[in-house]
Amino acid sequence: MSIPALMPVYPRCDVRPVRGEGCYLIGERGERYLDFAAGIAVNCLGHGHPHLTKKIQEQTATLMHVSNMYGSPQGEHLAQRLVDNTFADTVFFTNSGAEAVECAIKTARRYHFANGNAQRHTLITFGSAFHGRTIGAISATNQPKMREGFEPLAPGFKYADFNDLEGALALIDDNTAGFLVEPIQGEGGIRPADEAFLKGLRKACDEHGLLLVLDEVQAGYGRTGKFFAHELYGITPDIMAAAKGIGGGFPLGACLATEEAAKGMVFGTHGSTYGGNPLAMAAGEAVLDVMLEDGFFEHVETMGNRLRSALEQMIPNHDDLFELVRGHGLMLGIKMKHPSRDFVAHLRDNHGLLTVAAGDNTVRLLPPLIIEQSHIDEAVEKLSAGARAYVPPTDD
Ligand SMILES: *Cc1c(COP(=O)(O)O)cnc(C)c1O
Repeated sequence: MSIPALMPVYPRCDVRPVRGEGCYLIGERGERYLDFAAGIAVNCLGHGHPHLTKKIQEQTATLMHVSNMYGSPQGEHLAQRLVDNTFADTVFFTNSGAEAVECAIKTARRYHFANGNAQRHTLITFGSAFHGRTIGAISATNQPKMREGFEPLAPGFKYADFNDLEGALALIDDNTAGFLVEPIQGEGGIRPADEAFLKGLRKACDEHGLLLVLDEVQAGYGRTGKFFAHELYGITPDIMAAAKGIGGGFPLGACLATEEAAKGMVFGTHGSTYGGNPLAMAAGEAVLDVMLEDGFFEHVETMGNRLRSALEQMIPNHDDLFELVRGHGLMLGIKMKHPSRDFVAHLRDNHGLLTVAAGDNTVRLLPPLIIEQSHIDEAVEKLSAGARAYVPPTDD
């Protein structure tokens, strides 16, 4: 047997975390890392947050799981809080981002079906998009590295370039259901949608009876300094996928929709064994308890602005390496002049700073949303020291 017991689909690095403390991860050998990856935008409250930990512990002892056959006071309560704080009228809970996207795709198709327009099944999606790893979600991206060898994929998707409004509008035909788009592409390299682009998609949806489906799995949940990133753009979606930060590290996702957009999702059309179980709901409640406190989003915005200006000050000192900084709040990317993966490894192995590589030569900074000035100072010091000591591989 040469295949590892753990299916080898990840090129795992040498960091082997065994404990977390706030904004730090501790490895097997006791070494500490400043965690500006946060489980890829998941650990929004950092590691071992007392309120989240306590709520999960209490719920585990009270009631962990029941079937969705039964009434769910826990699910009703969390869904109501989301409805009260967003554009949405209704929520379906999932266990992951891909499942939230899957539910969003099904909700969009079912809306047109319920209107007697079953032929309106095709979602227009965008270059470099990432929507997850299910067959539905990889069908919704045109990135070959995610699709190769998994064909045949699901029909019902067309691809336009990100931020190309005219190109997207030109794809609209009798089969179009709507658009599926990340307001800020995460895996694609922290690339924000232009305001005119998102507003243009919204307007086209209103004019043509189409649905705007947003994937806010990475950009949502306080990451940008707003509860959801579309608030930065002054638009609302009809359907939205959320996940990552929503459970603070507990596996949870959600598909949110307006009453109109969800009109096709009647009894029997969708389901999940675990989705929205009491333990997951306790995690979701605990995250919201903290996030909806006065000043939380302002804190993210303030820290984001400070981190960004510190990065913008640092970049000119290393203009052979870095090109620019982009993003919003604490969803920031440094676009490099070289592939970013090797620099991310260098920061991790030699400077104790965890970041995440992304598309378009980008280093992603996605710290816990509870960081303080001291963490920003430490991260920027490590980044500067890392940049000074860095020798890019010669073959690029
Ligand atoms: C991470 C991510 C997903 C997939 O979430 P999983 O929980 O890994 O299934 C989907 N969309 C976006 C934008 C993401 O960043």
